[in-house]
Amino acid sequence: MFCNQCEQAQSGTGCASSVGVCGKSADVQSLQDLILYGLKGMAAYAHHARRLGKSDETVSAFIEEALFSTMTNVNFDIPALFDIAMELGQKNLRIMELLDAGHLELFGKPAPVEVFEGTKAGPGILVTGHDMLDLLNLLKACEGTNVKVYTHGEMLPAHMYPVLRNHPNLAGQYGSAWQKQRSEFSDFPGPIVATTNCIMIPPSTYSNRLFTTRVTHVPGATRILNDNLAPVVKAALECEPCPEKHVRTSTIGFHRTVLLDAAPTIVQAVKDGKISHFHVIGGCDGHESSRNFFNDFAEMTPKDSFILTLGCGKYRIREQDHGTLLGFPRLLDMGQCNDAYGAIMVAVALAKAFNCSVNELPLTLTISWFEQKAIAVLLTLLSLGVKGISVGPNPPAFITPNVFKVLQDKFDLKLTPTERGARGVPLTALNR
Ligand code: SF4
Ligand code: SF4
Repeated sequence: MFCNQCEQAQSGTGCASSVGVCGKSADVQSLQDLILYGLKGMAAYAHHARRLGKSDETVSAFIEEALFSTMTNVNFDIPALFDIAMELGQKNLRIMELLDAGHLELFGKPAPVEVFEGTKAGPGILVTGHDMLDLLNLLKACEGTNVKVYTHGEMLPAHMYPVLRNHPNLAGQYGSAWQKQRSEFSDFPGPIVATTNCIMIPPSTYSNRLFTTRVTHVPGATRILNDNLAPVVKAALECEPCPEKHVRTSTIGFHRTVLLDAAPTIVQAVKDGKISHFHVIGGCDGHESSRNFFNDFAEMTPKDSFILTLGCGKYRIREQDHGTLLGFPRLLDMGQCNDAYGAIMVAVALAKAFNCSVNELPLTLTISWFEQKAIAVLLTLLSLGVKGISVGPNPPAFITPNVFKVLQDKFDLKLTPTERGARGVPLTALNR
């Protein structure tokens, strides 16, 4: 364990042995970290929702209470902290629900759509991150100009919303997941707007063309604190124009509302034996070679199964040709990591249609995690009693063997195979 949050920190640097000076055990510290990191993820969702005019006082109050529980000499009780982690999952579900509602109200009902990938000749702006209100404001700032706006990374799902898709200045998608941004941004000639994570510290090749919004910022970039994106449009007109380059056309837009509209067809197809399984493969992406597990796993899925994907984890499996099933692409892109709510709602609707629990569905969840929103979503799934989830490529470093064992015993939580070992890494290997 490591904790340095109070004055009593051992040797003035931190409590790093099995028990802190205050008596806090490594497992209590682990649960407090789980709560703290889950809260960080939840705060991101709450921030996005608040920007769309959505908030819930019970969620805000819970964030205060849960933070309070991680202070020095407040809570040393493992069952009580575990209960707070589960309540965090429920409150996160509520805030994801509000975010989903905010997107639908502001941007319209999503639909499957073909997206141009590449660039078109002329001045262009690249926009990345998750904040689609920033994208809308940018499109409005571009109105009346020939500046074209391209989505990057987690902004790709913006194309499924009619208010954004139908805007004349939205031209297509450029690039892929966050970890490739240094090379992709260097190659893009115009300004880049980073609206949220996952932004990396930029090299000099594009730092003078990089703009960030509000809480998101990196050294060398220009930070925009209000919603005035006119300086970005001005920069686009001064930068070198984009070349004409069509990389490919892809199909996205299988938001939960689209899948739920098709539910009667899907349910009947399962009953007729035409669909064997649903795989949720997605979440975050990253550069580690151990994440190739997700590519390999997607490759191995049966041809009569669907793959639901979301988050930037989709970028590694959307390169593969998964074919079609019943007139749908087998790989159904549900949206951003923020749309994990949609995947949960689809699972709940299927369980209702089959009169069974989510755990009895022909459904496998294989989650690629990277940052703290994934922790919040994992706690939501666990708080709903969902069992048998696989997470990877590496186990959370802040989870002790004892806490992980509780999650394994209670929820059959699994680890994907990693460079560190095979599925179900021995708990002793997780001791840190
Ligand atoms: S809260 Fe406890 S474990 Fe943390 S620094 Fe203070 S004494 Fe150490
Ligand atoms: S899915 Fe996760 S890793 Fe990917 S951009 Fe979103 S927050 Fe970052």
